[in-house]
Amino acid sequence: MNATAHADSPVMDIDLARLAGNWRTVRGRYTGNDLGAVVKCNAYGLGLEPVVNTLSAQGCLQYWALGYDEACRVRALAPAAEVFILNGLRGASARDCHIQRLIPVLNDLDEIAQARRAGALTVAVALDTGLGRLGLRPEAVARLAAQDLSPLRVRAWITQPSSFSRPESPDRLNPHDRFLALIAPLPAASRSLAISASVFACPGHHLDMARVGSALYGVDTTPSRTLPLKPVASVHAPVLRVADLPAGAEIGYDQQFRCPAPMRIATLGIGYAHGLPYALMNRGAVYFGPHRAPIVGGISMGLTSVDVSGLPPRLTAPGQWAEVFGEQQRLETLADIAGLPANALLSATAAGCGRRYHALHPEQPLASRLSESLP
Ligand SMILES: *Cc1c(COP(=O)(O)O)cnc(C)c1O
Repeated sequence: MNATAHADSPVMDIDLARLAGNWRTVRGRYTGNDLGAVVKCNAYGLGLEPVVNTLSAQGCLQYWALGYDEACRVRALAPAAEVFILNGLRGASARDCHIQRLIPVLNDLDEIAQARRAGALTVAVALDTGLGRLGLRPEAVARLAAQDLSPLRVRAWITQPSSFSRPESPDRLNPHDRFLALIAPLPAASRSLAISASVFACPGHHLDMARVGSALYGVDTTPSRTLPLKPVASVHAPVLRVADLPAGAEIGYDQQFRCPAPMRIATLGIGYAHGLPYALMNRGAVYFGPHRAPIVGGISMGLTSVDVSGLPPRLTAPGQWAEVFGEQQRLETLADIAGLPANALLSATAAGCGRRYHALHPEQPLASRLSESLP
């Protein structure tokens, strides 16, 4: 496939060298023992195989997948790594986990009982320290402490912090203290609390194992948006048409936008079917080089209009590309405007756009650095 084959639809470029760079940045900050990569949901949409291969080459030896099938794919890509299944035994049998050497994260007493009946198995156990989503509630932990866990081998106790912005809030009952209090009566195993935001926060709370996703993909989940991460994914959409519209001209269904003055409007080949949020109707902008082009009218299934009045015509002509997010505009910025978590915008556009990978070694000729995959 060559570049012109994509000229009517958007492309996500994924920079694997930056993925590797973000891994090294996180590695440099994390003070615990085991740094694991969260690759759930097809590595946040970016593609399991290129992501796992890149991280394994950086020395990653722990992966966290969402379900059994995804974990099996990681197992095949990284035969020596520890592979955890966040969804536990919901989509898998304990026997299959044993055969594939996968570590299910058990989320309640029933699952633990089910695993014990199946025989010896290495597991992780999740505790609920306030997120109220999955994991053993404090009452269940107390009952677990009174139980014999054999023949299970508990590799780790894990919990998901309930705040991105304050992973180690100064509250007396912050997730770290709550977690340590909860596991105090339980047998010794690795303790896993830290997620992306935690790694850049209080080093005293890193504990033994980290589960990091967003930071590796260059997504800053903290409110300050100051983490030293490089964006990994960028999305560009092609210009399909440019038109000079008179004052009063309407753009979009049901007069979603009416030109207050004569305007030059570029129609882009990207829409909500490619993951561009409908909430960007008359909000936000794309970029042509450093030039901002506001979105006007609604977001259609495959088209979006932007105001390119006054922009250099050579940058906005049909066949040129607009940056939707990437270097000029961070993913996080556009997601904020759309009222979405940055990872929601990342995974939606990754699923909706053609993906193009830029390999680790820039010295390789361009043709062999690009490999393409359709959604
Ligand atoms: C998604 C997820 C993570 C990763 O969180 P990031 O903020 O993306 O680093 C860690 N642990 C669990 C249980 C998760 O579901």
